[in-house]
Amino acid sequence: MRIIGHIDMDAFFASVEERDNSRFKGRPLVVGADPKGGKGRGVVSTANYKAREYGIRSAMPISEAWRLSEVARKKGMPPAIFCEVNGKKYSEVSRRIMKLIAQVIPIVEQTSIDEAYLDLSFLGSYEEAQKIAEQLKVTIKKVERLTTTVGIGPNRLMAKIATEMQKPDGLTIIREEEAEKILEPLSLRVIPGIGPKTQTMFARQGMRLVKDAKNLTQEGLKDLCGKWGEDLYEKLRGRDYSPVGIEMEIKSVGEQETFAIDTMNPAFIAERLQVLSQAVVMRLKREGFENFRRAVLTVRFRDFQTKTRSRTFSEPISSGETLNFEAMRLLMAFLDGRENPQKKTIRLVGIRVEELS
Ligand SMILES: [Mg+2]
Repeated sequence: MRIIGHIDMDAFFASVEERDNSRFKGRPLVVGADPKGGKGRGVVSTANYKAREYGIRSAMPISEAWRLSEVARKKGMPPAIFCEVNGKKYSEVSRRIMKLIAQVIPIVEQTSIDEAYLDLSFLGSYEEAQKIAEQLKVTIKKVERLTTTVGIGPNRLMAKIATEMQKPDGLTIIREEEAEKILEPLSLRVIPGIGPKTQTMFARQGMRLVKDAKNLTQEGLKDLCGKWGEDLYEKLRGRDYSPVGIEMEIKSVGEQETFAIDTMNPAFIAERLQVLSQAVVMRLKREGFENFRRAVLTVRFRDFQTKTRSRTFSEPISSGETLNFEAMRLLMAFLDGRENPQKKTIRLVGIRVEELS
């Protein structure tokens, strides 16, 4: 029998800041870019639950978060506190939490700074899995003074959905025999891999919920979604066979910058890419790596459309100059017609390196 857990730190960045700054206690808190009195650029990284009551969400423009905070203030509610991102601190806290988890669970796959999948099959029963999850929540609360949400299910898909069902500080268990029924009334968006585009495609055919899409045959889903349709057919029925791997390493290191003004000036962007390349290589070394095999350039246009281009090298690379050179080459496609036929101005660039060693 497989039992899989999914653990997710609650409003992670914001919770760390609340923990470390007593004046943030009980206040709506937004971790992200500097709002500059509503004129700031960049986005919200994490909002705590009080700030979410104002409608503030992750990835929202920081100027919009500021506006929502002002709306609340004019109604006599406390305005949000805006706090910058302390990435290094969150990485350290994350590493300590992952260590606490690894002490009790042998197979853990970290999928982001505050999320991991746990293979709990070795415990043999859902009762035992629940006990260890409760223990883990208590330990993390005691050691790091942070709350977590855990979901337990027969596979990764259902474990993740269990986590989403009760947040924050939740613990939800979905057993194999109830998985399919629990999934049916939910929006198709709960299935990983169904993004806004696929959702719209289904909606055009009158399908919004998981149960609507279950009327399609495996062939029908393949016609609609390509090869992935086979996998999706299983997922719609609560089945997911993907394993949980031992994946404790950091998979990528990256830096990005939102410009003060949208731009198409190649000299300016080139200069910023050089700074970012150096910063990425410095962080790579600080995280204990020497080389990377892939470079990824992210570009966000003025309308928030975001595209990436990447290059995989045949040899491991360690120099910031090579990274910068490659980033410039990748950038070219965004300055000419290939990736940017409408010649939209650029709001943000980011460089990431992957396949680290
Ligand atoms: Mg989280």
